Amino acid sequence: MVSRVVFGRGSFNQLNEILSPKRLNTKAPFIFLVDDVFKGNAWLTSRIPLSYEDKLLYISAAEEPKTSQVDALVEEIILTHKERPSGIIGIGGGTLLDLAKAVSIMLTNKGESKDYQGWDLVKNPAIYHVGIPTISGTGAEVSRTTILTGPQRKLGINSDHTPFDQVILDPELTQGVPKDQWFYTGMDCYVHCIESLNGTYLNAFSQSYGEKALALCKEIFLEGSLDVQESADKLMMASWHGGMSIAYSQVGVAHAMSYGLSYLLGVKHGVGNCIVFEHLEEYYPEGVAMYKAMREKHNISIPQNICANLTDKEFDIMIDVSLSLEPLWENAIGKNWKNIITRQKLKELYQKM
Ligand code: NAD
Ligand code: ZN
Repeated sequence: MVSRVVFGRGSFNQLNEILSPKRLNTKAPFIFLVDDVFKGNAWLTSRIPLSYEDKLLYISAAEEPKTSQVDALVEEIILTHKERPSGIIGIGGGTLLDLAKAVSIMLTNKGESKDYQGWDLVKNPAIYHVGIPTISGTGAEVSRTTILTGPQRKLGINSDHTPFDQVILDPELTQGVPKDQWFYTGMDCYVHCIESLNGTYLNAFSQSYGEKALALCKEIFLEGSLDVQESADKLMMASWHGGMSIAYSQVGVAHAMSYGLSYLLGVKHGVGNCIVFEHLEEYYPEGVAMYKAMREKHNISIPQNICANLTDKEFDIMIDVSLSLEPLWENAIGKNWKNIITRQKLKELYQKM
């Protein structure tokens, strides 16, 4: 679990106070990985405390994090600084949060990040790392994984060393998120709840967080009685609770299939989950009905026919990626999932998307 967290509008102002005691020495910098959407945004960047050899690196979130990108960042940090950093601070959405986690792990673990994709492969504790979300929904701020696309697969580095040492939850930072993106990333949280609550791995720990996150999602996306600030505050906590819920269970069909879309077509996680979830009535009848009501209420359009022109070989690639995520299928369907989820079944579903 994340060991320290602050929540509240304006809590981002505490960054300097939080980081100062963690500085190892003047040559061991803090490295800030910041979504480049904030480039030129003085409201945010003027509050990033840079001293000594600290570095601010703007990074685009146009593509999801790759293992090669993590390895290149780590190399750059090692080559430009005499000492190991005092800390890595990720400021942005799931993309930047995952990059910060992965970089902090790879600064203390040998080899390439692709070698650590999987469960509990990380040997050494990561560098001190801090997560500051600027969009809510993924739960990346709280999870024990950092999801990377590698040469062979899209898979997380899941380990006890992955979670942030410190998280700052300041809902004010989410104020500029475009509406479509707000919905897509918010639906990631909603889908986490549905997949966790309807999974065979469910337990009292996951259920208690999942139910709370789901109730918050209903308030935010369906009931419409909240003002803008309340809604942003609650979505930030929904994301947290949704992430906690899957930390002790698993996601399910939507995630297993959207990883395939994202691996082959580069479809981003939030919108990818929406594209898949449109067609999952068979697995989550009530969840899909409520999702559609939310989508209609907010008048959001979801990309259609993205698989229309794919070859059989390309379908096979997506199916391979999807089927390799065994824990997700086992959670969704049960131990005998291999008898139910056939390649043909997945192909038919992908063909509808
Ligand atoms: P994102 O980080 O890719 O950001 C989406 C878009 O919103 C980007 O264009 C970004 O620049 C923009 N944005 C972010 N904050 C903004 C702000 N305040 N104002 C204006 N624009 C802003 O999107 P995401 O949905 O948060 O994250 C998706 C990533 O998270 C994927 O790579 C996915 O694999 C990962 N993920 C990780 C976990 C985990 O547990 N580690 C869980 C779910 C998803
Ligand atoms: Zn997700």
